[in-house]
Amino acid sequence: MAYSYDDQNIFAKILRGEIPCKKLLETEHSLAFHDIRPQAPDHVLVIPKGPYVTFDHFAQDASVAERADYVAAIGAVCKELGVQPGEGGDGYRLLSNAGENGVQEVPHLHVHILAGRWLGRMVE
Ligand code: 5GP
Repeated sequence: MAYSYDDQNIFAKILRGEIPCKKLLETEHSLAFHDIRPQAPDHVLVIPKGPYVTFDHFAQDASVAERADYVAAIGAVCKELGVQPGEGGDGYRLLSNAGENGVQEVPHLHVHILAGRWLGRMVE
């Protein structure tokens, strides 16, 4: 592992049960919970349980089982929220901020799932 992982970050504390969260789903390798400062009616964070800072770290170092579990967990949350377009939902946005330019606040990989309102265009 070429990068360093700070196990005192807030999501590591949530994973260890030191800080509470509003859990939506938990699998062997992933955890989904509601964002504490929701930016949409549905705003869920999905994190792997392993010590990965960004998506590229995860893609590089996670096992096949962790990667499959994470992708499935993100899909399962969309299903749980009922936001899948074409299946009665109005759609959603997946977002993962990385590093300084990405304005990443918490240095543990997380995908934001935003839904429940018109989210606007990313690029005009
Ligand atoms: P980032 O900018 O790193 O992509 O976003 C981090 C997200 O974590 C923010 O949307 C923020 O509201 C959320 N967050 C920060 N601290 C906590 C916390 O203690 N609990 C929960 N549930 N979410 C948090």
